[in-house]
Amino acid sequence: MRNNLSTDWKNVKDLVIYGFGKVAHDNIKFFKTHFNILYIVDSDIGKCNCEYQGIKVKHIDEVIEELGNKKTVIMTANRNALSIGEALEKHGLKEGINYCSMEQFLTEWFWTYEKKVCLMEVHTTITTRCTLNCKHCNMFMPYYKRHIDYTADEIMNDLDLLFKHVDYIVAYRLLGGEPLISKELTKLIRLIGDVYGDRIGSIGVITNGTIAPSEELIDVSKRYDVQYDFSDYTDAVDYRDKFNNSVHIVKDAGLRYRVNNSMRWCDFGFPTCNRMYSFENVREHMLSCGPLFHGLNDGKFYYCHVSWSADKAGLLRNASDDYINLKNLEVSDDSKKMILQHSNGEIAKGFVKLCKICGGCGNDNTEYVKAAVQMDRKQKMES
Ligand code: SF4
Repeated sequence: MRNNLSTDWKNVKDLVIYGFGKVAHDNIKFFKTHFNILYIVDSDIGKCNCEYQGIKVKHIDEVIEELGNKKTVIMTANRNALSIGEALEKHGLKEGINYCSMEQFLTEWFWTYEKKVCLMEVHTTITTRCTLNCKHCNMFMPYYKRHIDYTADEIMNDLDLLFKHVDYIVAYRLLGGEPLISKELTKLIRLIGDVYGDRIGSIGVITNGTIAPSEELIDVSKRYDVQYDFSDYTDAVDYRDKFNNSVHIVKDAGLRYRVNNSMRWCDFGFPTCNRMYSFENVREHMLSCGPLFHGLNDGKFYYCHVSWSADKAGLLRNASDDYINLKNLEVSDDSKKMILQHSNGEIAKGFVKLCKICGGCGNDNTEYVKAAVQMDRKQKMES
């Protein structure tokens, strides 16, 4: 069970950030606008002894003795936050007193001291269609019998519902399938930027780079400082020229972008050869996976966006507490708290129904597969 923040976090101005990876790169800008970042620490010496946005990056051994007098926010994937917490506890630091995870800080601190609902990362699928057919796709896109394309207006309705209760989203990402297939993407980004630009820290698109961004999309992306996350699957699929072209277009436009070329995925098992987690262990299993991003689709807010997709694909019917139905939600402090609790994994039955049979990507799943292995046509027809 997580400890609440101690009362001396109330007037905190200075923070130490633990972790100098993808999560920190995505979020430090937001933290800098609210707090003074003393320094960033990491246990990987290769990432240390440099500066990022004017903030020094130090090795943990250099500062561990002084962290007892500071407040530290762990800015990593949840699976790493657990082991960092354990290491800090060995040095006498206490969760909730000396340190906490970034998601806890954003949800608990902003609610307790500023009465604001602040969410860390929210994802929305704009289309379930994709240019690839990845057998182990964690959104199960090749397993959809009927694909769905959302309109920009439909997704704006979802955002309208969420922003009735939520003050700020640090990172909002549009994904697919392959989002650049969608004819509505440019319009949607324009609408989001116009209506909610001041309530979203950064708008982003997650793409496999198979489709070159159009001029119109680039123009609107520049206007709203859209970040592109390219998943590079060119080791598994032959599309290197297309990929390089897409990255160059974004780079030449001066947009923020990142290329992710992890060639290993956790094998979720689902839907091909489901694991079965025992009732006693399934909550722990869910928290080990601990998705940092939550889902928004169909007027519902999901702790686990993967579970939304499993249901949408017709693979597993969600339980009613796997999500919050925003369409039925009155605006009240109770509703706001419910959204904050849900995003922290506080679910009535303790876990998302899919977690019982899904391996997830926590430290307890050591089954790996090569990323982006394609399903052959026969497999797809049988699925
Ligand atoms: S283990 Fe649970 S939380 Fe993780 S991806 Fe699977 S269903 Fe989602």
